[in-house]
Amino acid sequence: MILQGVKRMSVVNQKVTSRLQQIFGDRMKVDLIERKLYSYDVGALPALIKPFVPAGVAGAVVRPMEEAEIVELVGLAKQEKLQLVPRGSSTSGYGGVLPAKGAVVVDLSGMDKVIAVDSTKKIVRVQPGVIWEQLQKQINKQGLDLRLYPTSLPASTVGGWLAQGGSGFGSYEFGEFKENVLAARVVMPSGESRNFSGQELADYRLSFQN
Ligand SMILES: Cc1cc2nc3c(=O)[nH]c(=O)nc-3n(C[C@H](O)[C@H](O)[C@H](O)COP(=O)(O)OP(=O)(O)OC[C@H]3O[C@@H](n4cnc5c(N)ncnc54)[C@H](O)[C@@H]3O)c2cc1C
Repeated sequence: MILQGVKRMSVVNQKVTSRLQQIFGDRMKVDLIERKLYSYDVGALPALIKPFVPAGVAGAVVRPMEEAEIVELVGLAKQEKLQLVPRGSSTSGYGGVLPAKGAVVVDLSGMDKVIAVDSTKKIVRVQPGVIWEQLQKQINKQGLDLRLYPTSLPASTVGGWLAQGGSGFGSYEFGEFKENVLAARVVMPSGESRNFSGQELADYRLSFQN
């Protein structure tokens, strides 16, 4: 499952803070140190590009554990005009996880389950925050292996690669990651959850990346 980020002017006021607390309990943070820690990624942007990345300090950080929480969060974001910034392991380094001032960072690392492995069809279904290396270890136990993975395998997430796109080990034989994804469940900016597959998934990916 993946969450589509939306750009808005974001203000985390008292009302928003209490709603976030209702949804996430102690998996919601507004203290400055936590917000600053979540306002960086692994990269140092080149000076020429830096002014174009709207980087500020996040207004809050939340860590969903299930889809229903994301749906509620998106509803709140719509109502309060909050900007949401999905975050996997922040290894992409291109500024995609950097929040504009006041944005709510959505740390997806808590949604890290392997939901189903079909050894016959050689298909796995996972939550977005699963780390490639952990996934590999789990499917290895069932005699399967990954067709392809990014070289950031020890740290990066499946959802991060789906959102970012790219090639990695195995791509010479199997192509880019997007060519190996059968379906994705997406929480849309409207708050509706949708399953994408086939041509619809290919078309959606194009619009998501643009
Ligand atoms: C040492 C190293 C090696 C690398 N090797 C490769 C490589 O071989 N191939 C390659 O393509 N890249 C590579 N990368 C780049 C990066 O690791 C990949 O793009 C990786 O897939 C990003 O995953 P992540 O979980 O860190 O995502 P993040 O960096 O956290 O996020 C990347 C983007 O995806 C969005 N996002 C993350 N999770 C979600 C979600 N669940 N829903 C919606 N949006 C989401 C974020 O907002 C951000 O815009 C490498 C990076 C490093 C540091």
